[in-house]
Amino acid sequence: MSNAESSLLVVGSVAFDSVETHTDKRVEVLGGAASFVSVAAGFLSPSPVRLIGVVGDDFPAAHTAFLEQQRVDLAGLERVTGRTFRWSGVYSPDFSTRTTLDTQLNVFQDFRPKLPAAWKSSDYVFLANIDPVLQLSVLEQAARPKFVACDTMNFWISGKRPELLRLLERVDMLLLNDEEARQLSGQSNLPAAARAIRAMGPRAVVIKRGDAGALLFHEDGVFSAPAFPIENVIDPTGAGDSFAGGFMGWLARIGNTSPQSIRTAMILGSVLASFSVEDFSLDRFRRLDISEIRERFAAFVDLVHFEKIKI
Ligand code: AMP
Repeated sequence: MSNAESSLLVVGSVAFDSVETHTDKRVEVLGGAASFVSVAAGFLSPSPVRLIGVVGDDFPAAHTAFLEQQRVDLAGLERVTGRTFRWSGVYSPDFSTRTTLDTQLNVFQDFRPKLPAAWKSSDYVFLANIDPVLQLSVLEQAARPKFVACDTMNFWISGKRPELLRLLERVDMLLLNDEEARQLSGQSNLPAAARAIRAMGPRAVVIKRGDAGALLFHEDGVFSAPAFPIENVIDPTGAGDSFAGGFMGWLARIGNTSPQSIRTAMILGSVLASFSVEDFSLDRFRRLDISEIRERFAAFVDLVHFEKIKI
């Protein structure tokens, strides 16, 4: 069943995040879309996750050691003189809205991703949230991956739309949140937005809706994965990226993209996202093991199981 040969490549931001919720805050903790995706994927991927990104000389050795411990291969993480990417945001008391206070691209400004020769043949590629120009340049260096998925956000949808549209022609799947789907498509209804986005290139679209779960629109129709009901949400930062990590990690593990595998990937995405929100930064992953992932996956089966009866 599993395919030990499958490899997963991730490009995206590695960051210092400053996050404020109604009860607590953290300043300059480990974050970045690629960090969340890679660490979440590392729990499922058959081989260490290949991370492409850049950090400055202010990035501590403790963070690199942590990423490596979590099965992230850092051979493609460049270290340059300068400051690491920084992002800060504040959540409303019910976590329904997040306001970005500051985005500093810093070392990402001049970053030109370069794939190590051995990584060009990676089977699964995830282009995490970063400038679509950089996402495209990674894709141009990769030799015929089996499956390419990408994420994006409002910042790029408004700032680099033509570049993003060029990228979308070349990816199999786009993940984005409901607000971004509306912004990109100009449609307020989500199925209509997904249809419009699929016409831009990706054959599948995943619309993430926070604690309302995620919807997959593809050639087989629509599939819904709930968000696991978590009583004590601490920090939703990175939930979408952890979803993507669980999703891609499973595809790499199972080694195919059949409709059934994609459904399982949606649920494992929700499982990893549900752990991510239980602490700040990537801290919940520091004390997560595969048995907890298995337990929550089983709890998901119960959560959505019902009998198909004649009514
Ligand atoms: P999420 O909560 O899943 O949307 O992801 C939040 C993560 O995305 C944080 O760890 C940020 O460091 C990162 N991030 C925020 N803005 C950007 C941006 N413009 N480009 C790349 N990464 C970003």
